[in-house]
Amino acid sequence: MIAKDLGERKLVDKVFSVAKKAKDAMAELGEEKVVNATIGSLYDETGKLVVLDTAMKVYKELPPEEIAGYASAFTGAPEYKESVKISLFGRDYKEFLKGHYVEVLATPGGTGAISNSIKNYLGHGDTLLLPKWLWSPYILMAKEKNGDCDFYTLFNEENRFDLVDFKERVEKLAKKQDNVVIIINDPCQNPTGYRLTIEEWKEIRKILISASEEANIILILDVAYIDFDDRSFEERREYLETFKNLPEKVLTIFTFSLSKALTSYGMRVGAQIALSTSESVVKEFYEANSFSCRSTWSNISRGGMKMFSEIILDEEKSFRLEKEREFYRNLIKERADIFISEAKECGLDILPYVSGFFLTIPTGKYTPKVEELLEKNHIYTVILDEGIRIAVCSITKERIKGLAKRIKVIYDEV
Ligand code: PLP
Repeated sequence: MIAKDLGERKLVDKVFSVAKKAKDAMAELGEEKVVNATIGSLYDETGKLVVLDTAMKVYKELPPEEIAGYASAFTGAPEYKESVKISLFGRDYKEFLKGHYVEVLATPGGTGAISNSIKNYLGHGDTLLLPKWLWSPYILMAKEKNGDCDFYTLFNEENRFDLVDFKERVEKLAKKQDNVVIIINDPCQNPTGYRLTIEEWKEIRKILISASEEANIILILDVAYIDFDDRSFEERREYLETFKNLPEKVLTIFTFSLSKALTSYGMRVGAQIALSTSESVVKEFYEANSFSCRSTWSNISRGGMKMFSEIILDEEKSFRLEKEREFYRNLIKERADIFISEAKECGLDILPYVSGFFLTIPTGKYTPKVEELLEKNHIYTVILDEGIRIAVCSITKERIKGLAKRIKVIYDEV
């Protein structure tokens, strides 16, 4: 009975199905015998989900009506929008973004932010440009518009961002579509942990500017994990400079997620942030995307937004939040360092990791066999088309030790 033009719609979520297998194995064999590298949330060294104290304390002290009431606006509470701008661009964002227009819309998580952006900018049946290694729900979002996907290779032979391939694909789409919608997930790319260098961003900028002579370019910059990147304030600023002073036909939409920023996944809070040199482009963004907010989810969690603004608008609380995140950033780094150095020692190939929740082992055409053998050895990972993803955000250091070698032995058997 599903509307014919939608085609087949069946959700196969590999992450949840492998995670269930891991749980079953733990129940049967005991936790110490199983490695569950599937969970994409931050876990501490005792195996418990990390809930940031600063966030929970503020949330628990909110008056009940701040939690139960509707949000004050469909597009998000004004103090929430202000907090998102501060969090992303810094307290002096007005000065930093002088001469630019910026608008924020509250969305249910980063997922809502990305899907709202695709809904409003990808033409019906058009092609969305995605990285080859990716967070797969992007593909579902394109399908909601009967769209196709094209995939830039992401890495060249030197394991750097493949600018040549990216340029070719952007130019090809610019020749045939009015709007070219591109997703780049940076920093802390899911699933590889890659972070583009400033030089790479400068080249991408040139490619987008040149392509904008043929089509509108909409860059959806998925910054879901930005607060788990270890760049300094100055380095973050240099990165953000990339998106300033672009031609009117290039629109950047940052998609932001409190799931990661406050480790509050179930709260479902996020935002779209549009940045442009054109007032009319940002006005149109705001009007069209508000329309979709109202028609899809109406408004988002009032308590979730309030929790964020109470922290960000208070410098002391913000400082505490940052200290907490720093602790966990370092923990993830330590875990990743163990895996990477052991992988090097035993000759296990991994894609170039810099920071973030995940790293990836490329397994190419051998992936199904590797998966089978890993499961036999009670190692559960997220299986990608041509690789396996290891969630360093959730495995303890103890469990990571020796994991690279165990995987290498299995890989050699294939
Ligand atoms: N973008 C990436 C790359 C992700 O990995 C995720 C979640 O795992 C999201 C966006 C969206 O997260 P949420 O909707 O929970 O904010």
